[in-house]
Amino acid sequence: MNSTGFPGDWDVSSGKARSGFSEDDGANKDCAGNYSEKDPLENAFKPCVTDSVRAGTGWDLHRLVPDRPLILGGVRIPSSVGLLGHSDADVLIHSIIDALLGALNLGDIGEHFPPSDEKYKDISSVVLLQEVKKLVDDSGYQIVNIDNTLILEKIRLSDYKKSIAENLAKILDLDVSRVSVKAKTSEGIIGEILPDVAISQSVALLQRMCI
Ligand code: MG
Repeated sequence: MNSTGFPGDWDVSSGKARSGFSEDDGANKDCAGNYSEKDPLENAFKPCVTDSVRAGTGWDLHRLVPDRPLILGGVRIPSSVGLLGHSDADVLIHSIIDALLGALNLGDIGEHFPPSDEKYKDISSVVLLQEVKKLVDDSGYQIVNIDNTLILEKIRLSDYKKSIAENLAKILDLDVSRVSVKAKTSEGIIGEILPDVAISQSVALLQRMCI
């Protein structure tokens, strides 16, 4: 290991390796672990760095109405109003699904689970998230963390954020430290235009292990 932090002798001006790399360094292996005679830096960094980390964003909104359950992140929240939608309308899980699909560039939730399909009528969104988790696993990527913000004007979620994060971590097979659930109001601003709605925004970071 030299002063650059990388194994071998690296010519900074050309960006090429001069000497000192060996198969044991791992630097001249590609993402599949295959050894190559090519420039070690080319193999070690270009293929992996450019596609080893992927981010996705998700956003969703559902209307709050009487006589519907309020389910957020798969957790039932005591409330006189709930979210309206074809499925259980779990706005938080829907934004997480879009963030994960976005990171993989696999389209959006409506393409995978069309609301016109009767088999998704009143379905638990946990089931949909489990399906998307399989897509993540099959892709070779793993979830680094997800960060989520819920916006509701009247319903306070401070007592439920922890249990929501724990439930999402369980569904996604993540340590709960990698699942952030935040909640806020818009201080009435959104409510002036769209009363009785719930909004969710999510960011997902995925990584693929290299070398
Ligand atoms: Mg939705």
